[in-house]
Amino acid sequence: MNTDIEKIEVLIIGSGPAGYTAAIYAARADLKPVVIQGLQPGGQLTTTTDVDNFPGYPNGITGPEMMEDLKKQAERFGTDTRWGMVTKVDLSQRPFKVEIDENKNVLAETIIIATGASAKWLGIEDEKRLNGYGVSACATCDGFFYKGKDVVVVGAGDTAAEEATYLAKMCNNVTMLVRRDEMRASKAMQHRVFNTPNLKVLFNHETKSINGEPGPIGVESVTAYNNQTGEETIVPCSGFFVAIGHTPNSQLFKGQLEMDENGYLLIEAGTTKTGVDGVFAAGDISDHVYRQAVTSAGTGCMAALDAERFLAEQE
Ligand code: NDP
Repeated sequence: MNTDIEKIEVLIIGSGPAGYTAAIYAARADLKPVVIQGLQPGGQLTTTTDVDNFPGYPNGITGPEMMEDLKKQAERFGTDTRWGMVTKVDLSQRPFKVEIDENKNVLAETIIIATGASAKWLGIEDEKRLNGYGVSACATCDGFFYKGKDVVVVGAGDTAAEEATYLAKMCNNVTMLVRRDEMRASKAMQHRVFNTPNLKVLFNHETKSINGEPGPIGVESVTAYNNQTGEETIVPCSGFFVAIGHTPNSQLFKGQLEMDENGYLLIEAGTTKTGVDGVFAAGDISDHVYRQAVTSAGTGCMAALDAERFLAEQE
């Protein structure tokens, strides 16, 4: 039996903009990074259509194409990109023992965690059917496409309030569907919502169906219902934004790394250092505020530089 265990200098978990940018920097520093792509290779951007706000693409680019470009760029410098899921990590001593696909162990001198966050969805069939055709979970990414049109936002937390007020600046009318008789968002955000003239809040309302067709037609309206009276309302709209929160993909690190109450990894301010020496976090896994491809790429770069310096100090 071969008992040799593979040793990796920089193991990057996750393949979104943070993971691949970390890989580009680490590979150019000759650290031979290995990227374990995870369940959704390319990350959240692979589920969006056009990306118009990433610097360097004057004509925009689709999310999947951009991620393919980032992957190729990382591989050009020798990044080893692998299919698979990290199924267990032991951060109690270095090198860190990492299990992949429940059947392979590797030892990593440093780990860059770029596992991201996943948008929560309502779980209704229409969301999948019309995803990319009017259904979105990111107003900052997709709001621009609904300039001058009517949109619906579901949710009642700070994210929903922020997205609804952001959309109200460019859209004709914004309707928020709030499932209870009050909002969870901070009072300051609620004031903003209530003081926005083209933003209407329907309390005690939930989504029954999103109506429209995938393709050029897209979303045409939403059927909402009052959960107190059962009364249905059809809200005409071209965009349907789900803003009911994100789940950071940090389950793997529970009990080993410090997290906030929502599961986002805590890092030392101004760095990507977690509480464990040699373990760094980049992208949405440690950022519930900005959540942009470009900010993720930025922290991915920081994580690779932090890992490089850490390794140099060990020599
Ligand atoms: P939250 O968990 O705070 O809110 C989620 C909202 O979605 C709740 O109002 C919830 O309703 C609603 N919801 C959940 N499931 C459903 C469903 N199936 N149907 C309809 N509505 C649903 O998530 P956020 O993303 O808003 O915020 C996460 C964290 O990030 C918070 O701590 C927030 O303060 C913070 N944040 C801060 C910002 C800032 O400071 N600028 C900006 C954005 C977020 P209900 O209330 O009934 O449970």
